[in-house]
Amino acid sequence: MAKPSSIGIPTETIGSIPRPLGLIERVAHCDAEDPNEDPDLAPHYEDAVRDTIERFEATGSPVVTDGEQKKYFGFATYCVYGLPNTAPDGFAIPFEDGHTRRLLRLTCGPFRYKRYADRYLDAAMRYAHVPVKQAVVSPSALSLMYPAETIADYSREQFIEDLLREHEAEIRRCLKRGAYKVQVDFTEGRLAVKLDPSGHLLNSFIDLNNLALARFSPEERRRIGVHTCPGNDRDSTHSADVDYAELLPSLFELKAGSFYIALASEPDRERVLEIIRNHRKPEQRIFIGVIAPGNPHIETPEDVRDRVLEAAEYIPIEQLGTTDDCGFSPFFDNTSLSRDTAFAKIRARVRGTEMAAELIGAHQ
Ligand SMILES: [Zn+2]
Repeated sequence: MAKPSSIGIPTETIGSIPRPLGLIERVAHCDAEDPNEDPDLAPHYEDAVRDTIERFEATGSPVVTDGEQKKYFGFATYCVYGLPNTAPDGFAIPFEDGHTRRLLRLTCGPFRYKRYADRYLDAAMRYAHVPVKQAVVSPSALSLMYPAETIADYSREQFIEDLLREHEAEIRRCLKRGAYKVQVDFTEGRLAVKLDPSGHLLNSFIDLNNLALARFSPEERRRIGVHTCPGNDRDSTHSADVDYAELLPSLFELKAGSFYIALASEPDRERVLEIIRNHRKPEQRIFIGVIAPGNPHIETPEDVRDRVLEAAEYIPIEQLGTTDDCGFSPFFDNTSLSRDTAFAKIRARVRGTEMAAELIGAHQ
């Protein structure tokens, strides 16, 4: 008789969930200079967080997020939006379908965050009954805010020093507040290879992010993860054509405990899993993407189960976890996927991961 399952495979979401359409409408018509801080919007943001967490928990997900309902204008600018020393014409992220999303540009020093992500945890933990994860923007993404020409009286070196200090402070605040994991969003890693095929830009990003990670103890780093993906906005990606072989060996040099790697939408998953097998480090937990947020088709639990079993051929079970390929809506106003579809996909991930764990446990 088969032994009962004794293994568990961790499963975590990336972070964002599409915002309620009513909230997007309200924010679009908001007259306040900074919609993050408009008191008239506060109860509506709060309703969105409460509803998101209720629906998240109803999927059976062992870890939830606030769905980034309050991260205006998205995963990369929430902490700096509204700063007086920024301009809107920063680095443009070019998506395949021709649209772009812009970062802010720093106009003068010093660089400070306007808000830290632990404020989102505060709200989420008021409603959650299970552990809450928090995603934060990477230092490498924010480093793109410094313009090509030097800012007078504020060198790039001073900026990097301030940036690292702010990023470290943000992660420490989230850890202290009780985040189950803090995930550093590193979508620009794969994009860096596209922008600079020599690999120099990617390596500079890895070095910068490692300077930040090195400020934490090994114990703290076990609660810190890194997410990589080809982007996900309006059903489009920015770097899906970049070969993972150009990215993953460098990615695993990051001194993080967990890696959240988009995989479900890769055309040749087995080849990617081989690269992961060859370059992962023993202390790293690899959460592979088993859900494609950019595809409206809802995966079945059986689809997920089979993807986990496939990955278990390449990654030791004690290092394996599952996730979604990306957030379901990294930018605030993206409506390409409904909330219902996002939660149905999450439900399939949770159930399919359990099914795979039961099968693997029964055969051990
Ligand atoms: Zn992503």
